[in-house]
Amino acid sequence: MRETLEQGLPELGLEPACIPALESFSRALLEKNQVMNLTAITDPRDVAALHLLDSLALVKLAGLESQRVVDVGTGAGFPGAPLAIALPGLHVTLLDSLGKRIDFLREICGALGLENTACVHGRAEEFAGEHREVFDIAVSRAVAGLPVLCELCLPLVKVGGRFLAMKSSHTEEEINQSKAAVSTLGGRIEAVKDYQIPTTDVIHRVVCIEKIKPTPKKYPRRFAQIKKQPL
Ligand code: SAM
Repeated sequence: MRETLEQGLPELGLEPACIPALESFSRALLEKNQVMNLTAITDPRDVAALHLLDSLALVKLAGLESQRVVDVGTGAGFPGAPLAIALPGLHVTLLDSLGKRIDFLREICGALGLENTACVHGRAEEFAGEHREVFDIAVSRAVAGLPVLCELCLPLVKVGGRFLAMKSSHTEEEINQSKAAVSTLGGRIEAVKDYQIPTTDVIHRVVCIEKIKPTPKKYPRRFAQIKKQPL
């Protein structure tokens, strides 16, 4: 794991000082994974590349310094937790609807002394009630198709902020299908950037959506409605 991080972090412009905390996070993840379902990736080198370096690729792609970030559907903390570890100037809200995953994150964030995180158990569409348009950036990886995801994430983002959707590279159709949702929710697709995860030959993609006007009050709808009739 250490070798993979030592090789990959400089490619992302990150200092090796964060390696011990990233290693501790991964060790805790793999340990807890034996008693609850947190990740299908269990080889420490793969955790380093496919979870940590993939999450941290956002630093180079999107310039994230000193921002208020929400990670929607963070699961075991990706991409939000590695970002909070590597960039102490960020404040990251780790949001998930599964209480056990948030309990794990609370425990490990406490143990690592990560004061720049808030671990919140809740559904994004409900969280938007009290946290509407307060975040500079929403990030999300592997949670839902883009039209649904836009309705969960864009209401949380300030006008002038961004939603960064982490996707696989075969998502042209999904991106095309999300155009109506993006525009209805006050966004604009600013860029679609493909990147290679350092130390691997895996290509992933980030869809960068700029928030250009407020989201109409009627969104987000209830989840059953969002799912039944995506915008
Ligand atoms: N982002 C993580 C990653 O890339 O490893 C976890 C992905 S996991 C496949 C999807 C996560 O999204 C689950 O932990 C699930 O509980 C959460 N989720 C799904 N819908 C959600 C919603 N409406 N609000 C908050 N969390 C949600």
